[in-house]
Amino acid sequence: MLESLRSIVQEVNAARDFRNVLDIIVSQVKASMDTGICSVYLRDAEEQDVFVLLATQGLNPDAIGKVRLKEGEGLVGLVARKAEPVNLGRADQHPNYAYFPETGEEAYNSFLGAPIIHHRKVMGVLIVQRQNQRPFDEGEEAFLVTVSAQLAGVIAHADATGELSRLTSLKQQDERVELVFTGVPSAPGVAIGTAVVMAPVSDLNAVPLRTADNIDQEVEQFKAALTATRKDMKALDRGLVGKLNDEERALFDVYLRMLDDHALGGEVVEKIKEGFAAPSAWSMVVLDHVSRFERMEDAYLRERAADVRDLGRRVLSYLQESENRIPVYPDNMVLVGEELSATAFADVPVEKITAMVSVQGSSNSHMAILGRAMGIPTVMGAVDLPWTEVDGAELIVDGHRGQVVTWPTEEHKAVYIHEMEEEKLLAEDLKVLQDAPCITCDDSSIALWVNTGLRLDAKLSLDRGAEGVGLYRTEIPFLMQDRFPSEEEQRQVYREQLEMFNPRPVTMRTLDIGGDKDLPYFPIDEANPFLGWRGIRVTLDHPEIFLLQVRAMLRASEGLDNLRILLPMISNLNELESAKRLIDQAYKELTEEENIPLQKPKIGAMIEVPAAVYQVEEIAGRVDFLSVGTNDLTQYLLAVDRNNPRVAELYHSCHPSLLRALKMVADGAARAGKPVSVCGEMAGDPVGAVLLVALGFRILSMSANNLLKVKAILRQIRVDEVSALLNGIVQLEDPVMVKSRLEEAISSPEIDRLIRPVAVH
Ligand code: PEP
Ligand code: MG
Repeated sequence: MLESLRSIVQEVNAARDFRNVLDIIVSQVKASMDTGICSVYLRDAEEQDVFVLLATQGLNPDAIGKVRLKEGEGLVGLVARKAEPVNLGRADQHPNYAYFPETGEEAYNSFLGAPIIHHRKVMGVLIVQRQNQRPFDEGEEAFLVTVSAQLAGVIAHADATGELSRLTSLKQQDERVELVFTGVPSAPGVAIGTAVVMAPVSDLNAVPLRTADNIDQEVEQFKAALTATRKDMKALDRGLVGKLNDEERALFDVYLRMLDDHALGGEVVEKIKEGFAAPSAWSMVVLDHVSRFERMEDAYLRERAADVRDLGRRVLSYLQESENRIPVYPDNMVLVGEELSATAFADVPVEKITAMVSVQGSSNSHMAILGRAMGIPTVMGAVDLPWTEVDGAELIVDGHRGQVVTWPTEEHKAVYIHEMEEEKLLAEDLKVLQDAPCITCDDSSIALWVNTGLRLDAKLSLDRGAEGVGLYRTEIPFLMQDRFPSEEEQRQVYREQLEMFNPRPVTMRTLDIGGDKDLPYFPIDEANPFLGWRGIRVTLDHPEIFLLQVRAMLRASEGLDNLRILLPMISNLNELESAKRLIDQAYKELTEEENIPLQKPKIGAMIEVPAAVYQVEEIAGRVDFLSVGTNDLTQYLLAVDRNNPRVAELYHSCHPSLLRALKMVADGAARAGKPVSVCGEMAGDPVGAVLLVALGFRILSMSANNLLKVKAILRQIRVDEVSALLNGIVQLEDPVMVKSRLEEAISSPEIDRLIRPVAVH
């Protein structure tokens, strides 16, 4: 059974299109289960309570698209309504049985139907039928349920990309029709621009679909890539004389022949002549061959798929090298990638980026944080976006609602242009608050600091009237390098920050890598990276890296005295003591051995692991200040990966448990007499900021972009009122209720304008 399942999944993954997927499902399931009929019904994209027969083996194929059942109607509708399998020996005797003469099914008595469910929604029903009058056995039922569960994702993807609606409505539709893809809202704002796809090199599955500008030139480049690869293969072959026997080496001849005109080479030239650019044509042809090998019965031949893939990568890297497209970056470009990372900023002119879309990641991934820091509307986790196919397409990116619209209609664009104008007006109106103090209506003063990491966001912060830096993420300059930066290189970068903000305090966090922040030159490969070697754990294991960084920070602070050092991911007191000892060591080296006059910086600990919440007083007793990282604290407290779009809906900073934990931190710090700030993203969300003030926090650190909105909202509330509200709110059981109760309580036209994006219909 496992073998049949593997082969079904493999064939489905290699299918040309969704029609082909459905045909594979019915024919393979029918063959593996040895049934007379196998059919798939899917929910109609327009009439959502109707299920349509879309593929069958065994029933009359003319019935496809014609047999339509409402939820609850017939046995198919029963499976859909119950959302569980129905297994019958005599289907015709069941009260729900409905007979459709056009299907020609009368001879089939036994019936087994399994629902196809994705994210709790029944997308369709998979049916098998036999002539005998016995129910299917338990093993068969379990098999059908397994197949359905595996296929649900593919069907949901077809639904999102519009392929399903093309089939169910049976209308001819233009490929370039407007489609809306949903992801995770990650940096607010709306933008319209042209997609520029960032693809990793030499990855056959990530070649952007591009057309050829000049066909002859593409063919020539392709031939040159083949010649270069042939040369490499021959050199490789020569190097293996004596190491492999002749038979094994003969494989190289096979590869060389595969590149010939009557094999892969010829097919690719044909594709280029159809108008595809050489890398696109090559990847399509190679992947097609790889999938054919993968589906072969013979294990030896199946293994050859890896060889074809390897050959494919070799030619592709030559093609990409010779692709002497001088990249032309449109002024309003939307950066699109499967897994966008900060390194993209090194390759493109940052000032031209108008929006960002990533297929992977979620709202607290570091790319999202950068998007917010730079005021670039960002959608992460757009898992269904056919990202390799949108290069050059016009896109609307809606960072408020987490939507990406491909090939938008003029009407839709007009609605968004209106929203962009509204946003511009709001930003203009907020400018007057730049130099105004952040004081609530009952005279409490709240310090608004900023989170920085790039030179760009530091400049923006000063323009917005930031009172200090609550979190300088030092890993960002580390990410932009191809090796660890030297002490002097670090000193210069840190000095610039300290000087720019002087005399305001700058809180520099020691290197916080691991989790989703991998340095290209120091990869950490772990099964469970967020629970693994990250933050202080890495740097305490590598005191040479830690000491170098702390020395650079201290030297940078000479004569400025506005440095504060913050330690990330503290989960026990030992880590704190060890880190403090190392900071002391660096301080002594510099002041006593190297005679540099330095003031000792204040040292703080991040509270971002639940264990630290319960030891907050002990931690506070050992440091000068605390800073709460709500991004990680939420992830660890709620057990929700901050990067995983599948569970993004569970990641909620209004969760009552999180509020209670935050209250413990605020109270603990107050008892210990130590200042505490919040530097997680919650502080930069206007509603989150109100909650934090109600909880007792008086220093909030956020992306510069949110600073004026937060200031505007805090200047309109009373601390005594929101604190009184809080007592009732933390008793609520549900995060959505918490948010709406608070929003309702503080609602006014001025406040609503700050917290709600304009509705788009
Ligand atoms: C946090 O975890 O809230 C935080 C501020 O740090 P980072 O997002 O860099 O992990
Ligand atoms: Mg963190």
